[in-house]
Amino acid sequence: MLSATIQKAINEQIKNELYSAYLYLAMSAHFEAASLPGFAKWTRVQAKEETEHAMKFFDFINDRGGRVELLAIDKPPVEFGSPLEVFQQILEHERKVTSMIHKLYEAAVKEGDYPTQVMLHWFIDEQVEEEKNASLIVDQLQMAEDHQSAILHIDRHVGKREDGD
Ligand code: MG
Repeated sequence: MLSATIQKAINEQIKNELYSAYLYLAMSAHFEAASLPGFAKWTRVQAKEETEHAMKFFDFINDRGGRVELLAIDKPPVEFGSPLEVFQQILEHERKVTSMIHKLYEAAVKEGDYPTQVMLHWFIDEQVEEEKNASLIVDQLQMAEDHQSAILHIDRHVGKREDGD
């Protein structure tokens, strides 16, 4: 059985993951409008992944006999900056998510909730990946500076990302 504290914290995290999905989808729309289909695809795949993260937490609450409570999701921005600015925003966002996951883990340790700790190991690993992936694209966009052909090359490259990558 989940404690009320952990159930509340995981319900919050379902909302946070769904907000991430919303944010990436807004970025995808921005890149579509900017004729950068590769970045649009990458952020769209990422949005789908975030929905899957939310569902992992959703299933976990149900498996533990808890009660899912869906909270209101904030509206993401409509306008975004250059590809470099967007990926810097993504990196910053993922670092924030990492600290949320770590706080959730700390709460599970404090409560002596071992199943939640084990479930969170996957998310702790996943956040290392998320930060690594965003950081690599930030570095490459920094190398490209304002050279349009280099940016288009990176767009084509990141657009090769498949669902589940
Ligand atoms: Mg996530």
